[in-house]
Amino acid sequence: MKIREIFNRKTVFSFEVFPPKKTSSVDTIYRTLEQLRELRPDFISVTFGAGGSSNNVFALDVASKIKDSGVVPMIHLPCINYTREEVAGVLEEIKRRGIENILALRGDINPDIPPKRDFAHASDLIYFIKKHGDFDITGACYPEGHPDAESLEKDIENLKIKVDAGADHLISQLFFDNEYFYKFRDIAVQKGIDVPIEAGIMPVVNKRQIERMVTTCGASLPHRFVKIMQRYENNPEALRDAGIAYAIDQIVDLFASGVDGIHLYTMNNAYVAERINEAVTNIKEAD
Ligand code: FAD
Repeated sequence: MKIREIFNRKTVFSFEVFPPKKTSSVDTIYRTLEQLRELRPDFISVTFGAGGSSNNVFALDVASKIKDSGVVPMIHLPCINYTREEVAGVLEEIKRRGIENILALRGDINPDIPPKRDFAHASDLIYFIKKHGDFDITGACYPEGHPDAESLEKDIENLKIKVDAGADHLISQLFFDNEYFYKFRDIAVQKGIDVPIEAGIMPVVNKRQIERMVTTCGASLPHRFVKIMQRYENNPEALRDAGIAYAIDQIVDLFASGVDGIHLYTMNNAYVAERINEAVTNIKEAD
């Protein structure tokens, strides 16, 4: 099934997982998928490395497993380090597996890997995908602006190019202050972006995640968020509860504000997804 059909019917609720490193057991992710499936998400997306590692075959295997379990899969596809021929090969494989939904991405530029020159932006990849098959295409968007962009306005103008190229809908980068998302959504509408925009929500439930948020994520950390994290960072259970509660609070507010969908960055943690899903079950059904 193509994801655009789901947006036509309801407010979407979806999950992201990543293929674990080769060193961890395949059974673990497959068990996680079984648990996530019980929550009846509208789709589950699988991340894909920009560097062309062999783990990417595993990403496709995970997407196939999702499909076999009766859940709609979406595979991420970053293009910056791939040639046209390589992307065409991956698209053939995606098609062969019966996967219909692709999150078309540029990928982060790694200073140690000179990018291949075939695709400069996700919009180039979207044009290419459209010529190579009948896929539903998602694009990424950034409520606080992409770090490479000179301004939020300019980034949203570039986002319009991505939508005009054929993105059916968008998923946002994570954020911790819903006001950024609402402001971004208003500007996007003003600039003529009329496709559904799912809000990306990351529950921060352990200390390692906090450290990553502070050093690399680029999202603003509101005072309320920092206060909670500082208070509970050395108490794993309390931190987990607080992170889940914070995410639920964001999600309830987004639903109440008419969001098109919620994409939960599960970090392969089915327990956290279960708790959040349970807390918003009636809210999801009321929509
Ligand atoms: P683009 O849309 O190409 O944008 C990148 C920059 O170029 C922006 O500053 C934009 O303003 C500008 N720009 C865009 N189009 C044009 C244009 N036509 N002309 C001029 N300027 C333009 N990375 C992975 O490697 N694997 C993943 O699985 C993955 N999953 C992700 C999932 C989500 C929901 C998100 C939000 C990000 C994900 N990423 C992933 C990270 C993503 O690859 C990076 O954020 C990357 O830096 C930008 O990708 P993009 O597709 O948004 O790029």
